[in-house]
Formats: sequence, C-alpha cells, structure tokens
Amino acid sequence: MTIAYDDQNIFAKILRGEIPNDTVAETEHSLAFRDIFPQAPTHILVIPKGPYVTYGHFASAASEAEILDFTRLVGKLVADFDLAPVGDSGGYRVASNAGPDAHQEVPHMHMHLVGGRILGPFAMPERKV
Ligand code: 5GP
Repeated sequence: MTIAYDDQNIFAKILRGEIPNDTVAETEHSLAFRDIFPQAPTHILVIPKGPYVTYGHFASAASEAEILDFTRLVGKLVADFDLAPVGDSGGYRVASNAGPDAHQEVPHMHMHLVGGRILGPFAMPERKV
C-alpha cells in the first residue's frame, strides 16, 4: 500500500529551510529540534528527513540506514540532554502520534522526546472503550 505524503506539511517546510526552527542535532538522515509549544523543560521533536507520514510507515518503509540513524540519534539526545533515569529519579518519555485517533497534527513522522520534570503516568483523556 502506498501512503501519500503531503510535502506542504510544516516539518517538510522546516526540512527545506523555509521555516525557522531551533535545531539541537542533525545527522545524515534525521533532524532534532525543539517543539514550539514545549510540554516539559526538554521537549524535542526527532524526525526522519525522508517522506514518512507515521511511525509505522517509517518503521516498515525506511531503509535500515535511516532507521539506525534515527534510533541512534534518540539515544544520543537522551545522553546529551541528561535524561536517563538514575536510581529513583530522572527519566523521559518518547511517543509518536499517528493519525486522527492519536491526534497527530503534523503528517510527517515525528518522535516526541520529553523530560526534565516528573511526567506522571501515560495519560489519555478518559473514555469508555
Ligand atoms: P503531534 O500532535 O502531531 O504529535 O505533534 C506535533 C507537534 O509539533 C506539537 O507538539 C506542536 O507543538 C509542534 N509544532 C507544530 N508546529 C511547529 C513548528 O512550526 N515548529 C516546531 N518547532 N514545532 C511545531
């Protein structure tokens, strides 16, 4: 199945340099920049440079080089931003929203890396399933 990618989305424009961003790291296949509306002291968005819409799209269609590059960048950011848990404190959350049910706003695959405060349990609005 082909997944249509809208190259007018905001992260595509960031990748093309058409919109400014606060880049914290860049690799051959990935870019990491601060979320414009941070939910915690550290809130970084990590995106592949390739045209992938969701995490599942990326995980199934990207090359091994792209996936390795992306995953290692997340690991480097955890270290560089001192987010790894130590004993009973510290830690972070990674999350990637996909599609309308998850309220994905930007249709370019991105991973939220959030930390620097107590995040609490993974929270979703309550609703009967
Ligand atoms: P989603 O709901 O799609 O998982 O999250 C999209 C995220 O992108 C949101 O946290 C939002 O604050 C962030 N965002 C939207 N537009 C921009 C932008 O132009 N620049 C940056 N740095 N972040 C953005």
